[in-house]
Amino acid sequence: MENAKIKYTNQRVEILNFLKDNTTHPTVDEVYEGVRKKLTRISKATVYQNLKFLSEKGLIQEVNIKGVSRFEPNLDPHHHMICKICGKIIDFKSKELTDYSLKIGDSKFNSSNRILSSSSDRGFSSIASLDFCTFSLL
Ligand SMILES: [Zn+2]
Repeated sequence: MENAKIKYTNQRVEILNFLKDNTTHPTVDEVYEGVRKKLTRISKATVYQNLKFLSEKGLIQEVNIKGVSRFEPNLDPHHHMICKICGKIIDFKSKELTDYSLKIGDSKFNSSNRILSSSSDRGFSSIASLDFCTFSLL
């Protein structure tokens, strides 16, 4: 079988531990800073390669938000809201929005306008920038 078993190296385990229950959508740098506390000799390149590997294997998800790669453990299709003021990113679920973004994704609506960003093979996740620090959405 092509689908070889995933080798859980120390590095991968630490990266997965760091991302587990992490809802902040850390960048490679942020994952590196976190993992380095445990594995002091790890390099940023190694962290990057392992993050790529783990996303390809579907254990974590890579999302491109405003041109920056971020990683998260949430594998369910979801959308991102970004605060225009503090930059905080939160997940939110909306079936309507998922259906809609898949529909326009299918029609080759291009993602360069940053409203939509491709999230691996799980379709498109849309990104909304809202001032949710100043306006409560709840
Ligand atoms: Zn997310």
